[in-house]
Amino acid sequence: MNESGSKQTIVITKSMTASDVAAQLGCPAGEVILYLLRQGIVCTRNKILPENLVKELARHFGVAFEVKQEDSPIESLVEKSVSGESRAPIVVVIGHVDHGKTTLLDYIRKSRVAQREKGGITQHLGAYKVNTAQGEVVFLDTPGHEAFMLMRARGVKVADIAVLVVAADDGVMPQTVEAIKHAQEAKVPLVVALNKIDKVDSKRIQDVKNQLSRHGVMLEEWGGDVLCIPLSAKTGVGVDKLIETLPVFGALLELKATKEGPGVGYILESKIEKGRGAVSTVVLQHGTLKLGDHVIVGGVTGRVNAMVDAAGRPIDHVGPSDPAKVAGFDELAPVGEVLKVISLAEYKKLRSNKGQRLVSETIGAETREDVPNILLKVDTNSSKEALVLAIEKLAKQQQQEVNIIQVGIGVITESDVLFAAETHATIYGFCVKPEIHVQVFAKRHGVQIKSFFVIYHLLDDLKERLEKMRKPKLVEKKIGEAIVRKVFNIKGQVIAGCYVKTGRMVRGHKVVIMRDNQEIGHGIIQTLQREKRAIKEAAAGFECGFIVDGFNDFAENDRIECISEEMSSSPK
Ligand code: GDP
Repeated sequence: MNESGSKQTIVITKSMTASDVAAQLGCPAGEVILYLLRQGIVCTRNKILPENLVKELARHFGVAFEVKQEDSPIESLVEKSVSGESRAPIVVVIGHVDHGKTTLLDYIRKSRVAQREKGGITQHLGAYKVNTAQGEVVFLDTPGHEAFMLMRARGVKVADIAVLVVAADDGVMPQTVEAIKHAQEAKVPLVVALNKIDKVDSKRIQDVKNQLSRHGVMLEEWGGDVLCIPLSAKTGVGVDKLIETLPVFGALLELKATKEGPGVGYILESKIEKGRGAVSTVVLQHGTLKLGDHVIVGGVTGRVNAMVDAAGRPIDHVGPSDPAKVAGFDELAPVGEVLKVISLAEYKKLRSNKGQRLVSETIGAETREDVPNILLKVDTNSSKEALVLAIEKLAKQQQQEVNIIQVGIGVITESDVLFAAETHATIYGFCVKPEIHVQVFAKRHGVQIKSFFVIYHLLDDLKERLEKMRKPKLVEKKIGEAIVRKVFNIKGQVIAGCYVKTGRMVRGHKVVIMRDNQEIGHGIIQTLQREKRAIKEAAAGFECGFIVDGFNDFAENDRIECISEEMSSSPK
């Protein structure tokens, strides 16, 4: 028995997909996907869930869990080889917002990469390689913590060195502390780039170094092992020293890789490109990826049919630490996921399950009559997540529901149209448009396709639909208050003799009777009188008597609130 009292325990491993979790929980994957969706998380069967989310699911399903410690997927996939060749270190730049991460990466790219490449054309690969007299170094082009988040979620060691940018004028800030923690947890050594030295004096530089040591960053000059390089990403002073230092530092880390054998690496970026389909930036940690290789990334298969290097030059193979753009994935490859070269037989087997995988993109829900049913097709994974969150927010604001039947990435196809027809859904395309023949097909099947390129335009359209579908609601509003002065009992009928304190009391309206600030009853004003004359309403400052249908147990000093029910069709 475990601590939750149930006998079932799920073993949490790294890289667990929603399907894996569902299998361990003993429920259909759809149930897990639906639960996550309600939490605002869009998920497919093959999406890898972070550990904390798996724990949350286990708690939700009342199942205990234990976390299994294991090697990173790359380490476990690759036979560690000390005899491999040295490889260039992969560097991630981290630090507090506005401390100059982007400026530093821009400076390095402009001064070291664009000039070097013919014609200055550099592909945006999410990473770039810099040559120095000391060797090569690869910079991940996404500042911030995303790379670390991926490392933690998937156990992939994306970077070998973290450059911690600290602005000398600002000093150590909350995200600096967070970044230090992330690097320490991921066991990634730090190099400090003490930035914006053009704005401060030498005393301030010393102060910041002191701050760093108080946060466990032991600088080399004080006997520790962390290098600190003062620089200015704006003027460029000191940047060369940083760049030259990194390969030397990388050599100390003895980073080895075998070029032989099937490639293993991870995906840095993924997108759909016109004429090329799903392409990804890949950085290998071991082995070689060649044209024609079959690969698997998460649940996505592919056959490499084109590769280019950072300069956009076609290449036929790529080795460790070299970022390359790879085309030939069957779907958008999940970012941060491990890529593995597989055999043709394995590839064929995985492809034969493709039908099943397509269904796994379904995130909802059955058709509903009372709310808009929509099928979303978007251009990229990040659009998908942003859009679903924005739609959920809109629905919340409107206090209505939107039924997202399916979310998919890529162009709108005839099979989307058939699915939409079957589920009575409207297809919303975001940054994707149907081809003419698909438009004709949709028309024939009575399916509406709406394409947008601006998120707010799509949301405005959806809002309009929600407004049209909204049923008016009755809203209660207090319109007056009276105090019971005397209670009369005339021929068995109880009359409350009142003084109207505020607003008005209106015949036919609902009243709520309050005693000692507690509601003790309610009813409808049946008759309303003043000086034995029937009236329709009594205003503040006047006395009146009334009989309430549904309540007759009045006492002196009861407070009677008169309520008006109004139609409302707009959300509050
Ligand atoms: P990030 O949020 O860490 O990526 O920070 P940015 O690179 O966007 O920089 C934030 C601001 O600091 C920008 O206005 C930069 O121009 C400025 N900045 C960055 N590095 C330096 C520097 O070395 N000196 C000075 N004076 N300003 C800098």
